[in-house]
Amino acid sequence: MTDTPTAAQPNVVIIGAGPAGLTAAYMLSKRGVAATVLEADSVVGGISRTAVRDGWRFDIGGHRFFTKVRPVEELWFEILGPDEFLRRPRLSRVYYRGKFYDYPISPMNALRNLGPVEAVRCVASYLWVRIHPPKDKSTLEGFVAGRFGWRLYRHFFKTQSEKVWGVPCTEIQADWGAQRIKNLSLFRAVWEALKPKRLRMRRHKSKQVTSLIEEFNYPRYGPGQMWERCTELVTAKGTKVMFDSRVTKVHHHGGRAVAVTAAHDGPETRYECTHVISSMPISGLLRAMDPPVPHDVQAAADGLRYRDFITVALVVPEELGFPDNWIYINDPTVQVGRIQNFGRWSPYLVKDGRTCLGLEFFVNEGDEMWTKPDADLIEQAKRELERIGLVEASDVESGYVVRMPKAYPMYDVTYKENVDTLRRWLDANAPNVYPVGRNGMHKYNNQDHSMYTAMLSVENIFGASHDTWSVNVEAEYHEEKQAETEGTEPRG
Ligand SMILES: Cc1cc2nc3c(=O)[nH]c(=O)nc-3n(C[C@H](O)[C@H](O)[C@H](O)COP(=O)(O)OP(=O)(O)OC[C@H]3O[C@@H](n4cnc5c(N)ncnc54)[C@H](O)[C@@H]3O)c2cc1C
Repeated sequence: MTDTPTAAQPNVVIIGAGPAGLTAAYMLSKRGVAATVLEADSVVGGISRTAVRDGWRFDIGGHRFFTKVRPVEELWFEILGPDEFLRRPRLSRVYYRGKFYDYPISPMNALRNLGPVEAVRCVASYLWVRIHPPKDKSTLEGFVAGRFGWRLYRHFFKTQSEKVWGVPCTEIQADWGAQRIKNLSLFRAVWEALKPKRLRMRRHKSKQVTSLIEEFNYPRYGPGQMWERCTELVTAKGTKVMFDSRVTKVHHHGGRAVAVTAAHDGPETRYECTHVISSMPISGLLRAMDPPVPHDVQAAADGLRYRDFITVALVVPEELGFPDNWIYINDPTVQVGRIQNFGRWSPYLVKDGRTCLGLEFFVNEGDEMWTKPDADLIEQAKRELERIGLVEASDVESGYVVRMPKAYPMYDVTYKENVDTLRRWLDANAPNVYPVGRNGMHKYNNQDHSMYTAMLSVENIFGASHDTWSVNVEAEYHEEKQAETEGTEPRG
């Protein structure tokens, strides 16, 4: 299939119909360009989809719509319209050694649960690291212990992080902590908790600590609603969104990408193009290059690792659900890492008198958990729910399993070097290929930063020269600067 571009118009192929790919399609359509979106799956939204089973709707995880990037916030409201957003209060806790701790931290609750002796030890341990910082702050362990002290690190971060990554915290780079925890320290967490709620809420969004936000926007029918609507809008403007179309080759010639081939359940189609915007995993993108990339580049692509994800959604009577949006399960005796209560995200996700609890398991594609039959995963989830003391297994009415490969790009010791190798090759051999998004750039980007890289890439196609790789790295700087210059109050 060949679309002939006009001289002035780029002919863009977009790989992936997740937030980044569809944002690119939307921004192009605003400039009068109808792109071709190739999506391997049969639904839109990528990791930000809303899965639907027997009328129950649930997220892969739970997707808060919170951002400090104003153009992204504006786009969310432009696409979905303000009436489709619910403003949700955030309530979350940590389950640890049989007790529930408020998260964000509440000093009185923490003191009550830890007991005065352990609380004093935690403070002493925090003061100790102020004077004797961890030797190696380049790892997640050193980074977190350096900010919160060794005892709090061991109580609240170690088990949870090792569940997420499946490797010791000494094997994960501090970058992940830096991106996730951003400007939070023990001092700031306690200070925020002690301030009256009124003052906390009044604070300008650019100054809020993302991990502590108390309210967030959420589409009535889940994050997938945003991407389903976006698909309708771009399709109406002539963009083709092709499902079950897995990109297998990106053809390059004379220092540029010239076409993309996708397989549709067997037969392959070649799409000529002037530009490619890619949100498929960057490792797969480089492996798809035709002619193939040199061995060292291939090795760098093969070296990138991921963590995969399973949600087991269990339907229970509403009164047995908990008041939180989610609870972190910081208990090494069970495999579940976090439990969502989807009824607390939006009443439109569940049915009258029932709620749906999403038990999250962090796994590796192909491992024992990944390959377990759904029925066994549901039984395990029921047992673990009962073990934690949340809901009796016999009260669970039904269950559904969703597997999501490559949910987390892994920040291991070699990831940076590997990504740099892939970037250098693309810059030199196919500069008209624009990697965007989360796995597209192998970056721990949320929807907002994934979308922002796509927005900037579209501007780059039209002659701008934004450095999309700096999005999220220096996020605080860019976003605060932007908020200051725009000087407007956050919406919603
Ligand atoms: C547990 C969890 C919780 C999260 N919570 C939040 C949150 O609260 N708020 C938030 O903003 N973000 C959250 N995120 C992050 C958010 O899901 C991602 O930032 C976002 O989905 C990334 O968008 P993307 O388009 O870059 O990638 P993806 O969502 O991964 O989409 C990429 C698309 O490309 C397709 N694709 C892949 N390979 C090919 C190929 N070869 N050919 C064609 N198509 C291909 C995929 O099928 C997919 O549809 C969370 C993520 C996880 C895992």
